Amino acid sequence: MELYQQTIHQLHSLLKSKKISSVELTKAFLQRISEQDSRIGAYISVTGDTALHQAAQADKLIAHGNDISILTGIPLAIKDNMCTKGLKTTCASRILGDFTPPYDATAIEKLKQQHYVLLGKTNMDEFAMGSSTENSGVRPTHNPWDLNRVPGGSSGGSAAAVASQQAVAALGSDTGGSIRQPAACCGVVGLKPTYGLISRYGLVAFASSLDQIGPITRDVRDAALLLNVIAGHDHRDSTSAPQSLPDFTAKLGKPIEGLKIGLPREYFSAGLGQEVAAGIDNARNILEKLGASFAEVSLPHTEYGIATYYILATAEASSNLARYDGVKYGYRHQDYDNLLQMYENSRAAGFGDEVKRRIMLGTYVLSSGYYDAYYLKAQKVRSLIIRDFEELFAEYDLLLTPTIPAPAFKLGERTADPLTMYLSDIFTISANLAGLPAISVPSGFSSSKLPLGLQLMGPPFSETKILQVAHAFEQETDYHLQHP
Ligand code: GLN
Repeated sequence: MELYQQTIHQLHSLLKSKKISSVELTKAFLQRISEQDSRIGAYISVTGDTALHQAAQADKLIAHGNDISILTGIPLAIKDNMCTKGLKTTCASRILGDFTPPYDATAIEKLKQQHYVLLGKTNMDEFAMGSSTENSGVRPTHNPWDLNRVPGGSSGGSAAAVASQQAVAALGSDTGGSIRQPAACCGVVGLKPTYGLISRYGLVAFASSLDQIGPITRDVRDAALLLNVIAGHDHRDSTSAPQSLPDFTAKLGKPIEGLKIGLPREYFSAGLGQEVAAGIDNARNILEKLGASFAEVSLPHTEYGIATYYILATAEASSNLARYDGVKYGYRHQDYDNLLQMYENSRAAGFGDEVKRRIMLGTYVLSSGYYDAYYLKAQKVRSLIIRDFEELFAEYDLLLTPTIPAPAFKLGERTADPLTMYLSDIFTISANLAGLPAISVPSGFSSSKLPLGLQLMGPPFSETKILQVAHAFEQETDYHLQHP
Protein backbone atom coordinates (compact mmCIF):
# COMPACT_ATOMS: atom_id res chain seq x y z
CA MET A 1 0.00 0.00 0.00
CA GLU A 2 1.23 3.51 -0.82
CA LEU A 3 2.10 5.78 2.09
CA TYR A 4 -0.64 8.22 1.15
CA GLN A 5 -3.30 5.50 1.39
CA GLN A 6 -2.70 4.71 5.05
CA THR A 7 -4.46 5.76 8.21
CA ILE A 8 -3.19 7.86 11.11
CA HIS A 9 -2.75 4.77 13.29
CA GLN A 10 -0.85 2.87 10.59
CA LEU A 11 1.45 5.79 9.81
CA HIS A 12 2.02 6.44 13.51
CA SER A 13 3.55 2.99 13.95
CA LEU A 14 5.72 3.47 10.86
CA LEU A 15 6.95 6.84 12.18
CA LYS A 16 7.46 5.58 15.70
CA SER A 17 9.50 2.57 14.59
CA LYS A 18 11.47 4.91 12.27
CA LYS A 19 10.52 2.89 9.17
CA ILE A 20 9.62 6.19 7.55
CA SER A 21 10.30 9.83 8.38
CA SER A 22 7.74 12.58 8.53
CA VAL A 23 9.65 14.54 5.86
CA GLU A 24 9.45 11.55 3.54
CA LEU A 25 5.73 11.19 4.26
CA THR A 26 5.06 14.91 3.83
CA LYS A 27 6.94 14.96 0.53
CA ALA A 28 4.85 12.02 -0.69
CA PHE A 29 1.70 14.03 0.03
CA LEU A 30 3.00 17.26 -1.50
CA GLN A 31 3.89 15.29 -4.61
CA ARG A 32 0.47 13.71 -4.64
CA ILE A 33 -1.18 17.14 -4.30
CA SER A 34 0.84 18.53 -7.18
CA GLU A 35 -0.30 15.60 -9.35
CA GLN A 36 -3.94 15.42 -8.29
CA ASP A 37 -5.27 18.71 -7.10
CA SER A 38 -5.59 20.57 -10.37
CA ARG A 39 -8.36 18.05 -11.21
CA ILE A 40 -9.97 17.88 -7.77
CA GLY A 41 -9.63 21.38 -6.30
CA ALA A 42 -9.57 20.23 -2.68
CA TYR A 43 -7.14 22.90 -1.50
CA ILE A 44 -7.37 26.67 -1.45
CA SER A 45 -3.79 26.98 -0.27
CA VAL A 46 -1.03 24.41 0.03
CA THR A 47 1.43 25.29 2.78
CA GLY A 48 4.40 23.28 1.54
CA ASP A 49 7.15 25.21 3.33
CA THR A 50 5.34 25.14 6.66
CA ALA A 51 4.62 21.45 6.17
CA LEU A 52 8.25 20.53 5.49
CA HIS A 53 9.44 22.63 8.41
CA GLN A 54 6.92 21.02 10.77
CA ALA A 55 7.83 17.57 9.44
CA ALA A 56 11.54 18.18 10.11
CA GLN A 57 10.67 19.26 13.68
CA ALA A 58 8.64 16.11 14.16
CA ASP A 59 11.51 13.98 12.87
CA LYS A 60 13.82 15.60 15.41
CA LEU A 61 11.48 14.64 18.24
CA ILE A 62 11.27 11.10 16.93
CA ALA A 63 15.05 10.87 16.52
CA HIS A 64 15.56 11.97 20.14
CA GLY A 65 13.50 8.99 21.18
CA ASN A 66 10.83 11.16 22.80
CA ASP A 67 7.55 9.43 23.50
CA ILE A 68 5.75 10.90 20.51
CA SER A 69 2.03 11.60 20.33
CA ILE A 70 -0.34 9.97 17.89
CA LEU A 71 -0.32 12.95 15.51
CA THR A 72 3.38 13.73 15.59
CA GLY A 73 4.56 14.06 12.00
CA ILE A 74 1.13 13.24 10.51
CA PRO A 75 0.11 15.45 7.53
CA LEU A 76 -3.42 16.83 7.80
CA ALA A 77 -5.63 19.25 5.86
CA ILE A 78 -7.71 21.95 7.57
CA LYS A 79 -10.90 23.57 6.33
CA ASP A 80 -10.22 27.20 5.49
CA ASN A 81 -12.57 28.56 8.16
CA MET A 82 -10.28 27.65 11.06
CA CYS A 83 -7.77 30.32 12.01
CA THR A 84 -4.16 29.38 11.41
CA LYS A 85 -1.66 31.87 12.78
CA GLY A 86 0.35 33.54 10.02
CA LEU A 87 -1.38 31.54 7.29
CA LYS A 88 -4.27 32.79 5.18
CA THR A 89 -7.77 31.86 6.37
CA THR A 90 -10.24 32.91 3.70
CA CYS A 91 -13.53 31.00 4.26
CA ALA A 92 -13.45 30.79 0.45
CA SER A 93 -14.73 34.37 0.43
CA ARG A 94 -13.46 37.40 -1.40
CA ILE A 95 -14.11 39.46 1.72
CA LEU A 96 -11.46 37.47 3.65
CA GLY A 97 -9.29 36.85 0.59
CA ASP A 98 -6.25 38.47 2.19
CA PHE A 99 -6.96 37.71 5.82
CA THR A 100 -4.07 36.26 7.82
CA PRO A 101 -5.12 35.61 11.42
CA PRO A 102 -2.70 36.58 14.20
CA TYR A 103 -3.72 33.54 16.27
CA ASP A 104 -4.58 29.84 16.02
CA ALA A 105 -8.00 28.32 16.62
CA THR A 106 -7.95 26.18 19.78
CA ALA A 107 -8.33 23.00 17.71
CA ILE A 108 -5.26 24.02 15.67
CA GLU A 109 -3.33 24.86 18.83
CA LYS A 110 -4.03 21.35 20.10
CA LEU A 111 -2.82 19.78 16.84
CA LYS A 112 0.33 21.89 17.04
CA GLN A 113 1.01 20.72 20.60
CA GLN A 114 1.15 17.21 19.12
CA HIS A 115 3.50 18.38 16.31
CA TYR A 116 1.17 17.61 13.41
CA VAL A 117 1.99 18.70 9.87
CA LEU A 118 -0.29 21.18 8.07
CA LEU A 119 -0.48 20.42 4.34
CA GLY A 120 -2.88 23.22 3.53
CA LYS A 121 -6.28 24.81 3.89
CA THR A 122 -9.21 23.21 2.11
CA ASN A 123 -11.93 24.51 -0.14
CA MET A 124 -15.47 25.03 1.13
CA ASP A 125 -18.71 26.79 0.38
CA GLU A 126 -18.22 30.46 1.20
CA PHE A 127 -18.57 30.85 4.98
CA ALA A 128 -19.68 27.18 5.06
CA MET A 129 -23.02 28.06 3.46
CA GLY A 130 -23.87 25.27 1.05
CA SER A 131 -24.02 21.55 0.42
CA SER A 132 -21.85 21.12 -2.66
CA THR A 133 -18.76 23.37 -2.36
CA GLU A 134 -20.02 25.13 -5.48
CA ASN A 135 -20.56 28.31 -3.43
CA SER A 136 -16.80 28.62 -2.98
CA GLY A 137 -15.57 32.03 -4.08
CA VAL A 138 -12.41 30.31 -5.34
CA ARG A 139 -13.53 27.36 -7.47
CA PRO A 140 -15.76 24.30 -7.08
CA THR A 141 -14.25 21.07 -5.76
CA HIS A 142 -14.81 17.89 -7.78
CA ASN A 143 -15.80 14.53 -6.33
CA PRO A 144 -12.81 12.15 -6.60
CA TRP A 145 -15.17 9.27 -7.50
CA ASP A 146 -16.64 11.13 -10.47
CA LEU A 147 -15.17 14.46 -11.47
CA ASN A 148 -18.51 15.60 -12.91
CA ARG A 149 -20.10 15.41 -9.50
CA VAL A 150 -19.97 17.52 -6.35
CA PRO A 151 -18.08 16.29 -3.28
CA GLY A 152 -20.90 17.48 -1.01
CA GLY A 153 -20.41 20.46 1.25
CA SER A 154 -19.62 22.65 2.82
CA SER A 155 -16.45 20.79 3.90
CA GLY A 156 -16.14 19.37 0.37
CA GLY A 157 -12.45 20.22 0.10
CA SER A 158 -11.60 18.36 3.30
CA ALA A 159 -13.60 15.25 2.33
CA ALA A 160 -12.23 15.25 -1.23
CA ALA A 161 -8.66 15.69 0.07
CA VAL A 162 -8.97 12.59 2.27
CA ALA A 163 -10.79 10.53 -0.39
CA SER A 164 -8.27 11.42 -3.11
CA GLN A 165 -5.38 10.62 -0.75
CA GLN A 166 -4.11 14.17 -0.64
CA ALA A 167 -4.13 14.16 3.19
CA VAL A 168 -4.17 11.44 5.84
CA ALA A 169 -7.18 13.08 7.48
CA ALA A 170 -8.76 16.50 7.79
CA LEU A 171 -10.79 18.79 9.98
CA GLY A 172 -14.14 20.11 8.81
CA SER A 173 -16.96 22.05 10.41
CA ASP A 174 -20.61 21.06 10.60
CA THR A 175 -23.49 23.50 11.08
CA GLY A 176 -26.21 21.47 9.37
CA GLY A 177 -24.34 18.50 7.91
CA SER A 178 -21.16 19.94 6.45
CA ILE A 179 -18.90 17.19 7.79
CA ARG A 180 -21.21 14.18 7.43
CA GLN A 181 -22.76 15.00 4.06
CA PRO A 182 -19.45 15.44 2.15
CA ALA A 183 -17.98 12.45 4.02
CA ALA A 184 -20.86 10.34 2.70
CA CYS A 185 -20.52 11.75 -0.84
CA CYS A 186 -16.78 11.02 -0.88
CA GLY A 187 -16.78 7.61 0.87
CA VAL A 188 -14.94 8.60 4.05
CA VAL A 189 -15.78 8.87 7.76
CA GLY A 190 -17.07 12.18 9.19
CA LEU A 191 -17.96 12.91 12.80
CA LYS A 192 -19.92 15.87 14.11
CA PRO A 193 -19.32 15.91 17.86
CA THR A 194 -21.76 17.04 20.55
CA TYR A 195 -22.21 20.82 20.59
CA GLY A 196 -19.65 22.16 23.06
CA LEU A 197 -17.26 19.20 22.97
CA ILE A 198 -14.76 21.00 20.76
CA SER A 199 -13.92 24.65 21.22
CA ARG A 200 -15.22 27.00 18.54
CA TYR A 201 -12.58 29.57 19.40
CA GLY A 202 -10.95 30.54 16.11
CA LEU A 203 -13.58 28.83 13.97
CA VAL A 204 -14.98 31.64 11.84
CA ALA A 205 -18.60 31.84 12.98
CA PHE A 206 -21.49 31.00 10.66
CA ALA A 207 -24.32 30.05 13.06
CA SER A 208 -22.85 29.97 16.54
CA SER A 209 -25.50 27.81 18.20
CA LEU A 210 -25.02 25.09 15.57
CA ASP A 211 -21.36 25.16 14.44
CA GLN A 212 -19.01 22.34 15.50
CA ILE A 213 -15.54 21.30 14.35
CA GLY A 214 -14.94 17.59 13.70
CA PRO A 215 -12.72 15.00 12.01
CA ILE A 216 -12.93 13.61 8.47
CA THR A 217 -10.92 10.40 8.24
CA ARG A 218 -10.28 7.13 6.42
CA ASP A 219 -11.62 4.97 9.22
CA VAL A 220 -13.44 5.14 12.53
CA ARG A 221 -10.35 4.63 14.67
CA ASP A 222 -8.73 7.69 13.12
CA ALA A 223 -11.85 9.74 13.92
CA ALA A 224 -11.64 8.66 17.58
CA LEU A 225 -7.92 9.43 17.70
CA LEU A 226 -8.35 12.90 16.24
CA LEU A 227 -11.26 13.58 18.57
CA ASN A 228 -9.08 12.66 21.54
CA VAL A 229 -6.72 15.46 20.52
CA ILE A 230 -9.09 18.30 19.63
CA ALA A 231 -11.84 17.83 22.27
CA GLY A 232 -11.89 19.55 25.62
CA HIS A 233 -13.06 22.55 27.59
CA ASP A 234 -11.78 25.97 26.57
CA HIS A 235 -12.36 29.08 28.65
CA ARG A 236 -12.18 31.17 25.46
CA ASP A 237 -15.43 29.61 24.19
CA SER A 238 -18.30 30.24 26.62
CA THR A 239 -20.34 27.42 25.04
CA SER A 240 -17.57 24.88 25.51
CA ALA A 241 -18.65 22.03 27.79
CA PRO A 242 -16.86 21.60 31.13
CA GLN A 243 -17.02 17.82 30.69
CA SER A 244 -14.19 15.49 31.65
CA LEU A 245 -13.01 13.59 28.61
CA PRO A 246 -13.15 9.85 28.04
CA ASP A 247 -10.67 8.06 25.79
CA PHE A 248 -12.75 7.99 22.60
CA THR A 249 -11.02 4.81 21.42
CA ALA A 250 -11.85 2.95 24.65
CA LYS A 251 -14.80 0.97 23.30
CA LEU A 252 -13.50 0.23 19.80
CA GLY A 253 -13.62 -3.54 19.32
CA LYS A 254 -15.88 -4.11 22.35
CA PRO A 255 -19.02 -6.17 21.68
CA ILE A 256 -22.16 -4.24 20.82
CA GLU A 257 -24.47 -6.97 22.05
CA GLY A 258 -27.64 -5.74 23.71
CA LEU A 259 -27.52 -2.21 22.29
CA LYS A 260 -30.90 -0.86 21.22
CA ILE A 261 -30.95 1.08 17.96
CA GLY A 262 -33.94 3.01 16.62
CA LEU A 263 -34.83 3.50 12.95
CA PRO A 264 -36.78 6.78 12.77
CA ARG A 265 -39.50 6.24 10.19
CA GLU A 266 -39.44 9.88 9.05
CA TYR A 267 -35.97 9.22 7.57
CA PHE A 268 -37.21 6.38 5.41
CA SER A 269 -40.01 8.17 3.61
CA ALA A 270 -41.00 8.07 -0.05
CA GLY A 271 -38.21 10.29 -1.37
CA LEU A 272 -35.44 7.93 -0.29
CA GLY A 273 -33.40 6.32 -3.07
CA GLN A 274 -33.79 2.55 -3.38
CA GLU A 275 -30.04 1.90 -3.19
CA VAL A 276 -29.72 4.07 -0.11
CA ALA A 277 -32.53 2.17 1.62
CA ALA A 278 -30.93 -1.16 0.69
CA GLY A 279 -27.64 0.03 2.19
CA ILE A 280 -29.34 0.74 5.51
CA ASP A 281 -31.08 -2.66 5.48
CA ASN A 282 -27.72 -4.29 4.96
CA ALA A 283 -26.24 -2.30 7.87
CA ARG A 284 -29.13 -3.31 10.08
CA ASN A 285 -28.56 -6.99 9.25
CA ILE A 286 -24.86 -6.71 10.03
CA LEU A 287 -25.44 -4.96 13.34
CA GLU A 288 -28.21 -7.42 14.26
CA LYS A 289 -25.83 -10.31 13.71
CA LEU A 290 -23.46 -8.60 16.12
CA GLY A 291 -26.18 -8.57 18.76
CA ALA A 292 -27.81 -5.14 18.47
CA SER A 293 -31.60 -4.97 18.37
CA PHE A 294 -33.66 -2.66 16.15
CA ALA A 295 -37.08 -1.08 16.29
CA GLU A 296 -38.91 1.44 14.18
CA VAL A 297 -39.31 4.73 16.08
CA SER A 298 -40.63 8.19 15.35
CA LEU A 299 -39.21 11.72 15.45
CA PRO A 300 -42.47 13.51 14.69
CA HIS A 301 -41.06 17.02 14.21
CA THR A 302 -38.47 15.99 11.61
CA GLU A 303 -40.46 17.60 8.79
CA TYR A 304 -39.92 21.04 10.34
CA GLY A 305 -36.15 20.61 10.57
CA ILE A 306 -35.16 22.30 7.31
CA ALA A 307 -37.44 25.32 7.80
CA THR A 308 -36.34 25.73 11.42
CA TYR A 309 -32.69 25.46 10.48
CA TYR A 310 -32.87 27.98 7.65
CA ILE A 311 -34.52 30.53 9.93
CA LEU A 312 -32.13 30.10 12.85
CA ALA A 313 -28.94 29.63 10.82
CA THR A 314 -29.60 32.65 8.61
CA ALA A 315 -30.58 34.79 11.63
CA GLU A 316 -27.31 33.95 13.37
CA ALA A 317 -25.34 34.37 10.14
CA SER A 318 -26.77 37.84 9.49
CA SER A 319 -25.55 38.90 12.91
CA ASN A 320 -22.17 37.13 12.73
CA LEU A 321 -21.37 38.49 9.27
CA ALA A 322 -22.12 42.09 10.25
CA ARG A 323 -18.47 42.34 11.32
CA TYR A 324 -17.25 42.28 7.71
CA ASP A 325 -17.59 45.96 6.93
CA GLY A 326 -14.22 46.77 5.39
CA VAL A 327 -13.05 48.66 8.50
CA LYS A 328 -10.77 46.56 10.67
CA TYR A 329 -9.87 43.69 8.37
CA GLY A 330 -10.89 41.99 5.17
CA TYR A 331 -11.64 43.41 1.77
CA ARG A 332 -12.34 47.14 1.37
CA HIS A 333 -13.75 48.51 -1.87
CA GLN A 334 -11.66 51.31 -3.35
CA ASP A 335 -14.62 53.35 -4.55
CA TYR A 336 -16.62 55.39 -1.99
CA ASP A 337 -17.48 58.95 -0.99
CA ASN A 338 -18.58 58.33 2.57
CA LEU A 339 -18.56 55.68 5.29
CA LEU A 340 -21.93 54.17 4.42
CA GLN A 341 -20.94 53.77 0.80
CA MET A 342 -17.69 52.14 1.86
CA TYR A 343 -19.65 49.53 3.86
CA GLU A 344 -22.10 48.97 1.04
CA ASN A 345 -19.58 48.66 -1.74
CA SER A 346 -17.24 46.45 0.29
CA ARG A 347 -20.03 44.05 1.27
CA ALA A 348 -21.61 44.09 -2.20
CA ALA A 349 -18.34 43.13 -3.87
CA GLY A 350 -16.96 40.99 -1.02
CA PHE A 351 -19.78 38.48 -0.48
CA GLY A 352 -21.08 35.93 -2.99
CA ASP A 353 -24.77 35.45 -3.88
CA GLU A 354 -25.59 32.70 -1.39
CA VAL A 355 -24.06 34.62 1.51
CA LYS A 356 -26.03 37.72 0.55
CA ARG A 357 -29.21 35.65 0.30
CA ARG A 358 -28.65 34.36 3.85
CA ILE A 359 -27.89 37.79 5.25
CA MET A 360 -31.13 39.12 3.76
CA LEU A 361 -33.20 36.15 4.99
CA GLY A 362 -31.64 36.37 8.44
CA THR A 363 -32.16 40.11 8.71
CA TYR A 364 -35.77 39.65 7.68
CA VAL A 365 -36.60 36.95 10.25
CA LEU A 366 -35.04 39.04 13.01
CA SER A 367 -36.69 42.32 12.07
CA SER A 368 -39.36 43.78 14.31
CA GLY A 369 -42.80 42.66 13.22
CA TYR A 370 -41.44 39.35 11.88
CA TYR A 371 -39.32 38.23 14.81
CA ASP A 372 -42.21 36.53 16.63
CA ALA A 373 -43.58 34.86 13.52
CA TYR A 374 -40.25 33.44 12.37
CA TYR A 375 -37.30 33.55 14.74
CA LEU A 376 -39.19 33.02 17.98
CA LYS A 377 -41.40 30.36 16.43
CA ALA A 378 -38.35 28.54 15.07
CA GLN A 379 -36.78 28.55 18.55
CA LYS A 380 -39.91 26.89 19.91
CA VAL A 381 -39.88 24.25 17.17
CA ARG A 382 -36.22 23.65 17.93
CA SER A 383 -37.27 22.75 21.49
CA LEU A 384 -39.81 20.29 20.13
CA ILE A 385 -37.14 18.65 17.94
CA ILE A 386 -34.84 18.37 20.96
CA ARG A 387 -37.66 16.81 22.99
CA ASP A 388 -38.33 14.20 20.28
CA PHE A 389 -34.74 13.03 20.63
CA GLU A 390 -34.76 13.12 24.45
CA GLU A 391 -37.78 10.85 24.52
CA LEU A 392 -36.19 8.32 22.18
CA PHE A 393 -32.84 8.31 23.92
CA ALA A 394 -34.55 7.46 27.20
CA GLU A 395 -35.16 4.08 25.60
CA TYR A 396 -32.69 3.66 22.74
CA ASP A 397 -28.91 3.86 22.70
CA LEU A 398 -28.55 5.19 19.16
CA LEU A 399 -30.44 5.94 15.96
CA LEU A 400 -29.51 4.63 12.51
CA THR A 401 -30.41 6.61 9.37
CA PRO A 402 -29.00 7.32 5.93
CA THR A 403 -26.65 10.33 5.78
CA ILE A 404 -27.69 11.43 2.30
CA PRO A 405 -30.93 10.70 0.42
CA ALA A 406 -29.06 9.95 -2.83
CA PRO A 407 -25.44 9.77 -4.01
CA ALA A 408 -23.53 12.95 -4.96
CA PHE A 409 -25.32 15.01 -7.60
CA LYS A 410 -23.80 16.52 -10.74
CA LEU A 411 -21.98 19.84 -10.65
CA GLY A 412 -24.36 22.61 -11.63
CA GLU A 413 -27.45 20.46 -11.13
CA ARG A 414 -28.80 22.36 -8.12
CA THR A 415 -27.09 25.74 -8.29
CA ALA A 416 -30.07 27.43 -9.92
CA ASP A 417 -32.47 26.28 -7.22
CA PRO A 418 -31.38 27.08 -3.66
CA LEU A 419 -34.38 25.24 -2.17
CA THR A 420 -33.40 21.90 -3.72
CA MET A 421 -29.87 22.51 -2.52
CA TYR A 422 -31.18 23.12 1.02
CA LEU A 423 -32.89 19.71 0.94
CA SER A 424 -29.54 17.90 0.61
CA ASP A 425 -29.16 18.16 4.38
CA ILE A 426 -32.52 16.76 5.31
CA PHE A 427 -31.04 13.89 7.37
CA THR A 428 -28.19 15.78 9.01
CA ILE A 429 -29.74 19.05 10.17
CA SER A 430 -31.66 17.71 13.19
CA ALA A 431 -28.48 16.63 14.99
CA ASN A 432 -27.24 20.24 14.85
CA LEU A 433 -30.56 21.66 16.01
CA ALA A 434 -30.48 19.26 18.97
CA GLY A 435 -26.71 19.59 19.58
CA LEU A 436 -26.22 15.82 19.23
CA PRO A 437 -23.20 13.82 18.09
CA ALA A 438 -23.54 12.00 14.77
CA ILE A 439 -21.19 10.10 12.51
CA SER A 440 -21.31 9.17 8.83
CA VAL A 441 -19.53 5.99 7.71
CA PRO A 442 -19.28 4.48 4.24
CA SER A 443 -22.20 2.08 3.77
CA GLY A 444 -21.74 0.90 0.20
CA PHE A 445 -21.91 2.15 -3.35
CA SER A 446 -24.59 3.01 -5.87
CA SER A 447 -24.78 1.02 -9.11
CA SER A 448 -22.72 3.77 -10.73
CA LYS A 449 -20.00 3.28 -8.07
CA LEU A 450 -20.72 6.41 -6.05
CA PRO A 451 -20.28 6.20 -2.28
CA LEU A 452 -23.23 6.09 0.12
CA GLY A 453 -23.19 6.77 3.85
CA LEU A 454 -25.02 5.73 6.95
CA GLN A 455 -25.48 7.95 9.98
CA LEU A 456 -25.48 6.99 13.65
CA MET A 457 -26.81 9.58 16.10
CA GLY A 458 -26.75 9.43 19.88
CA PRO A 459 -27.55 11.49 22.96
CA PRO A 460 -25.17 14.30 24.00
CA PHE A 461 -21.65 13.07 24.77
CA SER A 462 -22.26 9.54 23.50
CA GLU A 463 -19.35 9.73 21.03
CA THR A 464 -17.66 6.69 22.56
CA LYS A 465 -20.71 4.52 21.89
CA ILE A 466 -21.29 5.95 18.41
CA LEU A 467 -17.68 5.23 17.51
CA GLN A 468 -17.95 1.73 18.98
CA VAL A 469 -20.95 0.80 16.80
CA ALA A 470 -19.57 2.55 13.70
CA HIS A 471 -16.31 0.65 14.17
CA ALA A 472 -18.13 -2.68 14.63
CA PHE A 473 -19.94 -2.08 11.33
CA GLU A 474 -16.74 -1.01 9.58
CA GLN A 475 -14.92 -4.16 10.70
CA GLU A 476 -17.57 -6.27 8.96
CA THR A 477 -17.37 -4.38 5.65
CA ASP A 478 -14.71 -3.19 3.22
CA TYR A 479 -16.39 -0.04 1.86
CA HIS A 480 -13.90 2.19 3.65
CA LEU A 481 -11.00 0.36 2.01
CA GLN A 482 -12.04 1.19 -1.56
CA HIS A 483 -10.35 4.04 -3.37
CA PRO A 484 -11.66 6.22 -6.18
N1 GLN B 1 -25.87 22.90 3.87
C1 GLN B 1 -26.18 23.58 5.09
C2 GLN B 1 -26.17 25.08 4.84
O1 GLN B 1 -25.93 25.47 3.74
C3 GLN B 1 -25.22 23.20 6.16
C4 GLN B 1 -23.89 23.80 6.01
C5 GLN B 1 -22.95 23.49 7.14
O2 GLN B 1 -23.13 22.52 7.86
N2 GLN B 1 -21.97 24.36 7.29
O3 GLN B 1 -26.40 25.85 5.74
